[in-house]
Amino acid sequence: MEILEDSEKKPLDFIRQIIADDLQNGKHQKIVTRFPPEPNGFLHIGHAKSICLNFGVAEEYAGTCNLRFDDTNPSKEDVAYVQSIEKDVHWLGFEWREKVLYASDYFPQLYDFAVELIKQGKAYVCELLPDEIREYRGTLTEPGRESPYRQRSVEENLQLFTQMKNGEFSEGTHVLRAKIDMASPNLNMRDPVIYRVLKAHHHRTGNTWKIYPMYDYTHCLSDMLEGITHSLCTLEFQDHRPLYDWVLDTLSTPCHPRQIEFARLNLTYTVMSKRKLLKMVEGGFVDGWDDPRMLTISGLRRRGYTPASIRNFCKTIGIGKSESRIDMGVLENEIRSDLNLRAERRMCVLDPVKVILDNYPDDLVEEMTGMNHPQAPDMGERAIPFAREIYIEREDFMENPTKKYHRLGPGREVRLRYGYLIQYVSHSKDEATGRITEIHCTYDPETKGGTAPDGRKVKGTIHWVCAKKGLPVTVRLYDRLFSVEDPEADKNIDFLEHLNPMSKVIISDAIAEPSLAALQPGETVQFERQGYFCADSVESIAGKPVLNRTVTLRDSWESKK
Ligand code: ATP
Ligand code: MG
Repeated sequence: MEILEDSEKKPLDFIRQIIADDLQNGKHQKIVTRFPPEPNGFLHIGHAKSICLNFGVAEEYAGTCNLRFDDTNPSKEDVAYVQSIEKDVHWLGFEWREKVLYASDYFPQLYDFAVELIKQGKAYVCELLPDEIREYRGTLTEPGRESPYRQRSVEENLQLFTQMKNGEFSEGTHVLRAKIDMASPNLNMRDPVIYRVLKAHHHRTGNTWKIYPMYDYTHCLSDMLEGITHSLCTLEFQDHRPLYDWVLDTLSTPCHPRQIEFARLNLTYTVMSKRKLLKMVEGGFVDGWDDPRMLTISGLRRRGYTPASIRNFCKTIGIGKSESRIDMGVLENEIRSDLNLRAERRMCVLDPVKVILDNYPDDLVEEMTGMNHPQAPDMGERAIPFAREIYIEREDFMENPTKKYHRLGPGREVRLRYGYLIQYVSHSKDEATGRITEIHCTYDPETKGGTAPDGRKVKGTIHWVCAKKGLPVTVRLYDRLFSVEDPEADKNIDFLEHLNPMSKVIISDAIAEPSLAALQPGETVQFERQGYFCADSVESIAGKPVLNRTVTLRDSWESKK
């Protein structure tokens, strides 16, 4: 595990405190948690928070964490989602117990428990239509009304429930409801539906079942069957906890997991709900679930985020009980500091303009030496070819340089990183557009490597690439997907209106030092002065890299505020 262990210094969050107490006072000898995704979409950074919590506490307290698919809604689920979720949890660095678990594995037991509830007189088959059920339920200010089917006999309920199971009724005509309290102030306790008729093909159980259990009923019993000690979920389930407890208490189950709620992760400049992510994918607003701009785990991976950076982010934000919105800059800082340690440095010119060194021999190509990481000599060195014609960044030349501008311009001398000091001679430009076409300079042969033996100082150091040996690369400058902090703030404006039109800028004529040809898909480098770039895992091939900008070197959004 690469998580930096600083838990000694930080006080425990409220969940870890509860767990530590339960272990200390002997309530539990071993803790068991679970991460219960619904296989109806790809995991996102919000899920990472839940994964790091559930798998994290299991690891820290020598317990186990189950990966359990909550697959009770066959119409929206897909095996492709199951596979992507398993991959993402593994990639984040976590292991689950023996095998992957599925709520659908418990369908037979869940059915038996429902029969048990009926026998206790605690569940009944109701024939109100969905709209009627809603209407009978009442509101927060009005109590509900009892269903006319509430007083059916146990025998009749058993008979009807069997018929539901056998597929004798059509969807929406019959449901099984828990018989709790239609006057409860908690709407979830007003005889909630626990089974519905659904004639859909299930990705695991096929066409075996014609009825499917509801989430609230399934979840607590699945937790119980797995011996979960702490069932950690997000705050929206707080009002469901009385139902969670009612089911387990009523059935007198051998164990009773404790549900504890924590605040979900919200991030600025993004949306988090799977429904909205799906809308962006299906509407073609992004290039799939793993578009490097998506805050899905697969998008972040493709963008160049590392598992450690995401885990550190989850650690930084911590676990609390009140909802808040975390600044995207916090996530970006985590990947910056992680890549700052790991990424080798390279040079790449994104917007090239040619510089000709008039006094450099025509056909000479020298090899300069660049450090792969200036602060980490053990990361080695690389050879960088140098010749008479080089490219520099267009913005590193100014025709009428201002006082604070320390780069190249008339009368200026600058240092080429790992190269020579060069002195301006002349430049030419396209008169029609004003665009600089070529810059002529001389180099000082005494300054190889970038230092002048006479000790003279130059203020600017710029990056460059040899024109003859440079490697053309495609670079995609990714940025935040939305241009406002909260794209969902105004309910009258579709969140898609706030998409950032500059979130993906493709540069097809960038030129990089030739060592980039060896970059493997998924590998990340720092382009000096530019940011961190990751070779795209899908489109990049050896010798022809396609690079995704993971993050800039500094937070440019902070200054825009
Ligand atoms: P979404 O709200 O994006 O549709 P969901 O809650 O429907 O997500 P599930 O697959 O049911 O997605 O989620 C699995 C687990 O991840 C749940 O325990 C849920 O509480 C947790 N989770 C989902 N979103 C977040 C979030 N933003 N922050 C923390 N935990 C989350
Ligand atoms: Mg959910």
